[in-house]
Amino acid sequence: MIPKSVISNEILWQILHQPLEGDYGSTDDKNCNLLLNSDYHELMQELTFWHELIHVLQHSYDLPDQDLDPESIAKYYGPALFAFMRRNFHELKWIDHERKSNSESVGSRDETPELV
Ligand SMILES: [Zn+2]
Repeated sequence: MIPKSVISNEILWQILHQPLEGDYGSTDDKNCNLLLNSDYHELMQELTFWHELIHVLQHSYDLPDQDLDPESIAKYYGPALFAFMRRNFHELKWIDHERKSNSESVGSRDETPELV
């Protein structure tokens, strides 16, 4: 499950699921909300979460977001992403769970004991 909130640079962002016209998602940096369009399937919302998270990092770390070359993207976004993942490690445990449950239907993965 997508977390209800995340912390980016010590700023609390609420994750809200609601109908959005013509958008998979968006960020509301005035109110620190990450919005996901509830009209779409949950897996689409999960994918959109990661897109919008980049915008959350841009807002909360005041990162440059225009005309960046690949080295600048790595330089600015790498440390912000690392800090984010470390700070939200417990909230992001769903990533591993989702991967395991999805791979069952594909049938291409070795059986590993599930940690609960
Ligand atoms: Zn975008």
